[in-house]
Amino acid sequence: MIDFWLQRFQKGIQTQNSWADEELAKIKKRLKSEIGKKFSGSLAIRMVDSGSCNACEAECNALSNPYYDLERLGIRFVASPRHADILLVSGVVTFNMLPHLLDAYEQLPSPKWVITLGDCTQGTVFKDSFAIKGPVNKHLPVAYHIPGCPPAPDEIIKGLLGFLQTL
Ligand code: SF4
Repeated sequence: MIDFWLQRFQKGIQTQNSWADEELAKIKKRLKSEIGKKFSGSLAIRMVDSGSCNACEAECNALSNPYYDLERLGIRFVASPRHADILLVSGVVTFNMLPHLLDAYEQLPSPKWVITLGDCTQGTVFKDSFAIKGPVNKHLPVAYHIPGCPPAPDEIIKGLLGFLQTL
């Protein structure tokens, strides 16, 4: 049992796929370094679901589990846009959510960035419906897009790293 806990503290949580564990560890290290350099070690994200199926949110929830453990890298999901650096938008932008999405963006302090999460933010689903006002980039300046339907947690982490490397 002691060996188990020693390994747990030294190497973190490991799965049966050691290659994926090592790749993820490398990406997390680079992500932490970028956040340290560009956001003084603390990156706050406000997520807005503009009308999604909730699968993208479920994948984001997984980022807080002990395996991905994003908070250890300095990334926090915050409740208020006033405390955020980034607006992370999922969903198709419904007629009802559009004003709330724009309001959240207005409340973010500058400098601020918009990242879209998931393919339906690009305006492909129900795009000719009167109730859908997407794509997101029709209304907001999108700095980066993370593709997938839904993107898996490691793809979201890679996407965040990709965004930071553009700054
Ligand atoms: S991108 Fe796919 S999984 Fe994500 S909210 Fe849209 S439909 Fe759902």
